[in-house]
Amino acid sequence: MTVYLVGAGPGDPGLLTARALELIAAADVIVYDRLIPATALEGAREAAMLVYAGKEGGGPSMPQSEIERLLLEHGSQGKNVVRLKGGDPYVFGRGGEEAESLRAAEIPFEVVPGITAGVAAAAYAGIPVTHRDAASAVAFVTGHEDPTKPESALDWDALARFPGTLVVYMGVRQLSVITQRLIAGGRPDSEPAALVQRGTLPDQRSVSGTLATIAEVAQTKKIRAPAIAIFGPVAALRERLSWFSPPPLAGRVVAVTRARAQASGLASRLRALGAEVVEAPSIRIVALEGPAPDFTGYDLLCLTSPNGVRIMFERLNTAGRDARAIAGLRVAAIGPGTARALAEHGITADIVPERFVAEGLVEALAEVPVSRALIARAAEARDVLPQALRDRGAQVDVLTLYETVAEPLADSELDAIGRADYVTFTSSSTVRFFLDAAGSRLSAQTRLVSIGPVTSASLRQRGHEPHVEAARHDIDGLVQALVADAAGA
Ligand code: SAH
Repeated sequence: MTVYLVGAGPGDPGLLTARALELIAAADVIVYDRLIPATALEGAREAAMLVYAGKEGGGPSMPQSEIERLLLEHGSQGKNVVRLKGGDPYVFGRGGEEAESLRAAEIPFEVVPGITAGVAAAAYAGIPVTHRDAASAVAFVTGHEDPTKPESALDWDALARFPGTLVVYMGVRQLSVITQRLIAGGRPDSEPAALVQRGTLPDQRSVSGTLATIAEVAQTKKIRAPAIAIFGPVAALRERLSWFSPPPLAGRVVAVTRARAQASGLASRLRALGAEVVEAPSIRIVALEGPAPDFTGYDLLCLTSPNGVRIMFERLNTAGRDARAIAGLRVAAIGPGTARALAEHGITADIVPERFVAEGLVEALAEVPVSRALIARAAEARDVLPQALRDRGAQVDVLTLYETVAEPLADSELDAIGRADYVTFTSSSTVRFFLDAAGSRLSAQTRLVSIGPVTSASLRQRGHEPHVEAARHDIDGLVQALVADAAGA
């Protein structure tokens, strides 16, 4: 019933406020800008309408009047509308104009301040905008206007005399005019100056100089928007106080080929490490219809994936039964992910091997007496485990719970694969279906990351030598191996 003008902070998802996250999760409509954190919309409801109001590749952005019309339209329909803006909505964000048009239309609104780039990018670059010894005042200035134009609303002579730090937003393009104007107005040309590009983001860059040199530094170092400029003695503190080091996967593009329903865990881990993630789900898990499993007479139950656990319990629950159906059986899980899925149902796996592949499970079961085993798993799984148990004289039944089918990739996803530095494979089926759908899009530089020996063998079978194979065959191990490769490569 309210329109919320919400600041999303400068880019680091950790700098979104608790209030912003709460409102995003409850919104019916979200009108968002370009400079919001990549993950900001992840918590939005499935049914929420997401409207992009920013510029696409230098094209025109949505006119301000259109944005305000949208807010009025949805706001007057009694919806929860979030207007999500980079930084703080009232600092060079045109939030004031939006609030005025809402007030004029008598639509209730609230403002959620955000962390503004001028403070945050400076801090991440090692620059406190005020300092007891160096600056007792700070001014936020727009550098959008050409200071030499007579209609400039800014009094640059007054700004030159301002007794404190100047933080200039949107000033990259006008940098040389701005610095000349400040020097002409009496600011010492030796005054420290710094620029911070994409502050708080994994690919943050910052450079230093003086009022006299910074424009040239910006040019040689190719500093681009979004960047803030900081003028004043505090800018020199950067040398002593810089602390931010880019996360290990900053600037890397990583494709995730797992099923969409499972990709998010891996994707958010990679994002947290600074990677740009391309979601290219090439498989989908389809549960097979079937009766609730009957565990009578078995002394061992083996589960070989979290999907298997989930679908087995779905079948049990549909039949009105629960974890007690497994009481009395010894339960083996192929790896920690599967064990975690079991734990969610109150079952602690008795056996989890050290190597998370079927062969590992066979070894882990070597000393375990088995007379009758039930293996719950996917339709297309390998026969290693049932065969090994049969060879030991056990009676083995296989319960097929699901199959893996191809998931068609969208054109945008296919296009993005060409830019990937890494493609991650978490199973043989991701290899098979991904290569069928997108193999031709792989560039020669792309490095293929495999979760373990079985997945690697599937890659080799298709003529691709994996560049990286995880030593620990689960998602943690895969991420670890990728990070190590990125550090060395
Ligand atoms: N409301 C925003 C500012 C919007 S104006 C805020 O409070 O931060 C857009 C300008 O903000 C950009 O041109 C740039 O100068 C600055 N900016 C936004 N995000 C930035 C970032 N991550 N690093 C450096 N500057 C940024």
